[in-house]
Amino acid sequence: MDALKIYRETFVWDDHGGFTVLPGQNLGPLLAPWHAAGVDYLSVNAGIDAYPPETILKTLTWIHRALPTQAPFVRLVSSVAEIDAARAEGKMAVSFDIEGMRVLDGRPERIAELYDLGVRHMNFAYNLNSAAGSGCHDDDTGLTDLGRAAIDEMNRVGMVVDCTHCGYRTTMEAMERSTAPVNFTHSNPKALNDHGRNILDDQIKACAETGGVIGINGINLFLGVKTATPRDVARHAAYVAELTSVDHVGICLDDAPTYEDPEGADFLAHTPGADRYWPASEGYDQSLGCLNVRHLPEVAVELAKLGFDAEDLRKILGQNFRRVAEAVWKTPTAAPLAMKGA
Ligand SMILES: [Zn+2]
Repeated sequence: MDALKIYRETFVWDDHGGFTVLPGQNLGPLLAPWHAAGVDYLSVNAGIDAYPPETILKTLTWIHRALPTQAPFVRLVSSVAEIDAARAEGKMAVSFDIEGMRVLDGRPERIAELYDLGVRHMNFAYNLNSAAGSGCHDDDTGLTDLGRAAIDEMNRVGMVVDCTHCGYRTTMEAMERSTAPVNFTHSNPKALNDHGRNILDDQIKACAETGGVIGINGINLFLGVKTATPRDVARHAAYVAELTSVDHVGICLDDAPTYEDPEGADFLAHTPGADRYWPASEGYDQSLGCLNVRHLPEVAVELAKLGFDAEDLRKILGQNFRRVAEAVWKTPTAAPLAMKGA
């Protein structure tokens, strides 16, 4: 079996990039590495709880406005059919995710507005507790009324519930409540590396029971290695496949251009409240690194070495995340706000 050939031919879905776009950023160089790596769909992060809601809303309208000229190799999509249309044109399809629910400002009805701006998944909290639920590096107090209302609204509008970065109780309660599949978009198994950002076997199993997918990330700290290799990522993926089935694992590296840019590698220090969101006690420091997305094809090779066949590779590289999107995403409730004046 030629795993690289399968990689080239199959549909590749990366459910979360590890960089947060801010208004005014040049999107072309940011997104080019994923397109060059053969990624067909990328979910771009439009903000985390460290940023105020206004910044995240500005970011979304900024991307809508700037993307066509700054990154003509990308197409903004709102449906799986549009992803296929983008792929047929040789373009990378993009929509958005948000990490944490500070952006809601206490109003679950804002979810429909975010959905119409292209946000297709959101989690409850970014490492620290939010008004919606617990973060994985904070007191584990569980989902709040806002978190429960948010799940109901996400289920209604067709936004995927994500549990990455959240506390154990919040994740288990969310998976219990959601009527649609729930993902851990970029979380690794704690059984292979006992880190607070990683997840327990029963979280992995509960996710699979919802029909969801666990995306394996390429962050050294969460893989439990000094420098992540394609084999490390494949090993974590194989663990999840063994525990559940090959239908519930994906690859979502969480890579960012800043990891290899000496000018940009200090994002840990530049984000508001950085030392609280990424506590030194959990091992976060300036040496945080990630497997570069250009190595994604080699992950397919390593998966093949571990015994996964061609159909398995297609599922892990993209079909599983795609299946969840097909099951959850709905027709936008209105035209994207950024398009209204156009
Ligand atoms: Zn993240």
